Amino acid sequence: MRYSALKILTQGLTGNKGWTPAWREPDPKADYDIIIIGGGGHGLATAYYLAREHGLRNIAVLEKGWIGSGNVGRNTTIIRSNYLLEGNQPFYELSLKLWEGLEQDFNYNAMVSQRGILNLIHSDAQRDAYVRRGNAMRLSGADAVILGPEEIRKTCPYLDFENARFPIQGAIWQPRGGTVRHDAVAWGYARGADERGVDIIQNCEVTGFQMDGGTCVGVETSRGPIRAKKVAMCVAGSSSRVAEQAGMRLPIESHVLQAFVSEGLKPTLPGVITFGAGHFYVSQSDKGGLVFGGDIDGYNTYAQRGNLPVVEDVCEGGMAIMPMIGRARLLRMWGGVMDMSMDGSPFIDQTHIDGLYFNGGWCYGGFKATPASGFCYAHLLATGNPHPVATAYKLDRFRTGAMIDEKGAGNSPNLH
Ligand SMILES: Cc1cc2nc3c(=O)[nH]c(=O)nc-3n(C[C@H](O)[C@H](O)[C@H](O)COP(=O)(O)OP(=O)(O)OC[C@H]3O[C@@H](n4cnc5c(N)ncnc54)[C@H](O)[C@@H]3O)c2cc1C
Repeated sequence: MRYSALKILTQGLTGNKGWTPAWREPDPKADYDIIIIGGGGHGLATAYYLAREHGLRNIAVLEKGWIGSGNVGRNTTIIRSNYLLEGNQPFYELSLKLWEGLEQDFNYNAMVSQRGILNLIHSDAQRDAYVRRGNAMRLSGADAVILGPEEIRKTCPYLDFENARFPIQGAIWQPRGGTVRHDAVAWGYARGADERGVDIIQNCEVTGFQMDGGTCVGVETSRGPIRAKKVAMCVAGSSSRVAEQAGMRLPIESHVLQAFVSEGLKPTLPGVITFGAGHFYVSQSDKGGLVFGGDIDGYNTYAQRGNLPVVEDVCEGGMAIMPMIGRARLLRMWGGVMDMSMDGSPFIDQTHIDGLYFNGGWCYGGFKATPASGFCYAHLLATGNPHPVATAYKLDRFRTGAMIDEKGAGNSPNLH
């Protein structure tokens, strides 16, 4: 079924009786060409692009819970392509371009809103670093503007410009950054993949891999064994646990990251604002709530809930740049499990086991990457070669020394 304004009108006039389910609930078949483990944003996007770009249809997405129950439905919805390093910038810029056409492409309203992202500058050294980043962005075709405090005051007069420790000296502004309604992304990709014949199988947990002479030939699941020519892991925060079933130890740690939403306020924030001297980022949802977050909790866990010290730390960050936030009441908060890689950059690669592929290590920046991750993983699965913008995302880069240390923080996930 194609969604359109006319469809809403005709359905409204006829009692809304003609809507069909957005995707089917098929039982798993005995075998597929490709099995994707994980029905998060990346897994569903991979299935969608495999079908749309490469014409492959005999595909299953296996999801242990319901689609969108993982980080794709838990993040703070920020999209941007303000990366510095060559291994990353073209990939994230491709993702932003795919976001720009996504709703028309999969015929679903994902509320893509390019309201801009403002990264505040608090010192001379930080200005130098952000100017360098902005130049790298512009060289690869992205947009970046350096603003002074007077320009920021026009749209955000409530920021604490004269803060004694962290005065606001300016910002790097990416006008094409913004926010997207996160769970609609999962639903849109699921609908588009299903329409093209992909089986989306919920409540189906992968519990092991079937191996034949060193080649992966299928998976064991809570709904029985399923065979496949290719198996593609895409389970974000559960990466280490799933890879362990194939005897793999990954350069990834799992940490919890929390998100927060305030009560609804009148329109206040023009776009996304991030604190450059601490870890705090905030935007305002269309319902009016301030949606914000900060650091990971800093200990290894698979629990989708965080602890109070980080709540205090995040709120301190908010108070340091916009003291008026202290008067808003917190409405709700939650946690998600992050697949933190040791250089802060992801992996999209074939593993050392024939027929087994890996996508993960997205840290807390994987939502913005969803379209490009799916696009590039589909390219790798369909052609056997990495997509040109994802050649650096190798699993062996810690052995070869080709790390993509975007933040220069080394193997310290809490600093990425
Ligand atoms: C609080 C928070 C805020 C964030 N904010 C941002 C942001 O503003 N911008 C940004 O770019 N990124 C952000 N992120 C990161 C982003 O959400 C993730 O990097 C991204 O969603 C991960 O990819 P995914 O959508 O495929 O993951 P998920 O949605 O977690 O998908 C993985 C799926 O695999 C399934 N699975 C696991 N094990 C198995 C198994 N054995 N069998 C079958 N299925 C299995 C899980 O149930 C899950 O549904 C944030 C994350 C959190 C938690």
